[in-house]
Amino acid sequence: MKVVLASGNKGKLAELGELLSQSGLELVPQGALGIADPVEDGHTYVENALIKARNAARISGLPALADDSGLIVDALDGAPGLISAHYAGVHGDAAGNIAKLLGELQGVPTERRTARFYCCLVLLRHADDPQPLIAEGEWPGLILDAPRGDGGFGYDPVFFDPATGLGAAEMPASQKNPISHRGRALAVLKSRLADWIARGAAAG
Ligand code: IMP
Repeated sequence: MKVVLASGNKGKLAELGELLSQSGLELVPQGALGIADPVEDGHTYVENALIKARNAARISGLPALADDSGLIVDALDGAPGLISAHYAGVHGDAAGNIAKLLGELQGVPTERRTARFYCCLVLLRHADDPQPLIAEGEWPGLILDAPRGDGGFGYDPVFFDPATGLGAAEMPASQKNPISHRGRALAVLKSRLADWIARGAAAG
């Protein structure tokens, strides 16, 4: 099944491409088809993922997979959350976003620096698909005092995974992918994929 990947984020594209390499889905990044990200004006992750998937499906005429994700920090009442990509003002300014996050958390002790990454994946058969496949995943951790490691993307340099004792940016992709919010959401999506495809075929 050929599927357009509704994201222009290089970090996400690399992770999703790697995670889906054995899935039977043939992924085409939307950028390769000249498709740009739409305005994400939903009030929830699932709405934003649907907006992105619909946009890519409508323009390409192909099934589409979209990811909407973010970092949820408990001491900041869930910020940066839905606006994680442009927390500091400019879309995709990872260094600015990290600087703002560390500033907001200055003086907050380790035990109160709890956070989690969240990911919502949406797969559509076509732009008007009334039965999208929706899968979620979370990755609990802590926000570090200062960046660590040079892998990953976005907030990875300040996200610490207590289960492995490593920062997200200190892990090779092969270690981050299976345990991350995106990897967990994708595992759920994969487990439901065959049934979802069969249901679509049955609906004609
Ligand atoms: P959006 O889903 O395009 O709205 O962007 C989500 C934003 O959340 C990204 O731009 C990153 O800042 C952040 N984010 C999502 N997933 C990750 C991750 O795996 N590592 C680090 N940052 C992430």
